Amino acid sequence: MSLEEYKGVFIFAQQVDNELSSIALELLGKAKDLAKDLDEKKVTAVLLGDKVGNLVDTLAEYGADRVIVVDDPELKDYRTEPYTHALASVINEYKPEILLVGATAIGRDLGPRVSSRVHTGLTADCTQLDIGDFPLNVVEGQEQKHQQLLMTRPAFGGNTIATIACPDFRPQMATVRPGVMQKIAPVKGAKAEVVEYNPGFEENACYTKILEIVKAVSEVEDIQEAKILVSGGRGVGSPENFAILEDLAKVLHGTVSCSRAVVDSGWKPKDLQVGQTGKTVRPKVYFAIGISGAIQHVAGMEESDLIIAINKDENAPIFDVADYGVVGDLNKIVPALTKKLEAALAEK
Ligand SMILES: Cc1cc2nc3c(=O)[nH]c(=O)nc-3n(C[C@H](O)[C@H](O)[C@H](O)COP(=O)(O)OP(=O)(O)OC[C@H]3O[C@@H](n4cnc5c(N)ncnc54)[C@H](O)[C@@H]3O)c2cc1C
Repeated sequence: MSLEEYKGVFIFAQQVDNELSSIALELLGKAKDLAKDLDEKKVTAVLLGDKVGNLVDTLAEYGADRVIVVDDPELKDYRTEPYTHALASVINEYKPEILLVGATAIGRDLGPRVSSRVHTGLTADCTQLDIGDFPLNVVEGQEQKHQQLLMTRPAFGGNTIATIACPDFRPQMATVRPGVMQKIAPVKGAKAEVVEYNPGFEENACYTKILEIVKAVSEVEDIQEAKILVSGGRGVGSPENFAILEDLAKVLHGTVSCSRAVVDSGWKPKDLQVGQTGKTVRPKVYFAIGISGAIQHVAGMEESDLIIAINKDENAPIFDVADYGVVGDLNKIVPALTKKLEAALAEK
C-alpha cells in the first residue's frame, strides 16, 4: 500500500428512506476542520442509495465540496453486503486518506466490514478527532509520523481515554457517535461537484433478501433534539417521583432524560439515557438532578451550553462540570424551582 496515493477527507453520508441522517451533516462539519488542518481543499461525501440524487444539495450546503453518488436499486434499503461492496469500491477507486462513518446501527455494521475489506484499521465510537503527530511524544528508535488522524475514545469501560492512530494503513477510518460533532451553519445555494460511480452489483450467497420492514414507533421524545433537558438520576428515588421533573420540564418546554442507573432500574426507557452507552446530548440547558456525575454520564452531556446540578452531596462529581450547583434535597428544590419559574413566566 502506497500511503501517498491516499488523499482527502471523506464521510459516509448515511440516508434512510431518502432522508439524510443528522450524523452525515455532523461528520461534514468535522471533516471540514480536518481538511483545513491537512491543507486539503476538498471534503467528499459518499452517498449510497436508490434515487438519492436529490440529497446532494443538502450535503453541499453543509460542507461537501464533492459528492460521490452510487445510485442503484440494490442500495434501496440498507443491507450489509451491497453497501459494503459499494463503499469498499469507492475507497479502492478514489483512495481517501480519512473516512468517517456515523456510529449508528448502520455505521457500526458497515464501517468494520469495509475497513476489513480494504485492509485498514477502524477506531469505533470516537469522541474527538484531531490531526497531529503519532506517537504523541517522541519515542527513541520509533519514527514519529506527522499529520496523522488522532482518534480519541473512552476505553476500559470509560475509565481511561485512549488516543489511537493508524499510521501504516489507509484510509484512516473512524466511527463517531451521533451528537458529538457539530454541523456547520448551512450555506444556502452551495453546490458540490457530483461524481456518479457504480461498481456494479452481483448478487451472491451473502445477499440477504428483505421480506418486510416493520418500523419501530418511538413513544418517547428524541432527547438529542431537545433544547432543555431535565435529567434525573437514581437520587430521584422512584419512577413515580419523576413527576416532579416532568412538571419542571413542562414549565420550561423541556424534555425529561435520565442516567443509566434509572434505565437499569426499569424506571425509564433506554432511549432517554444520556451517556457513554446512551445518547450524547448538547442542549442549551441541562439539569442534572440526583445524578452523581460518573465519568460515563458526563461523557454524554458535558458539551451542554449550561449545566445546572441539584444534588444533596456537595462532593458529588457532577458539580465539577456544572455551571450552577444547588446542594440540597431535590424533593424540596425541584418543586420550589418549578413554582418560581411558573410565576416568573406568567408575569412575562
Ligand atoms: C461501561 C459503562 C458504561 C456506562 N454508561 C453509562 C451511561 O451511558 N450513562 C450513565 O448515566 N451511566 C453510565 N454508566 C454508569 C455510571 O458509571 C454510573 O453508575 C451511573 O451514571 C450512576 O447513575 P446516577 O448518577 O443516577 O446514580 P448514583 O451514582 O447512585 O447517584 C445518585 C446521586 O443522587 C444524589 N441524591 C440522592 N438522593 C438525593 C436527594 N434526595 N436530593 C438530591 N440528590 C440526591 C446522590 O448524592 C448521588 O450523587 C456506565 C458504566 C459503565 C461501567
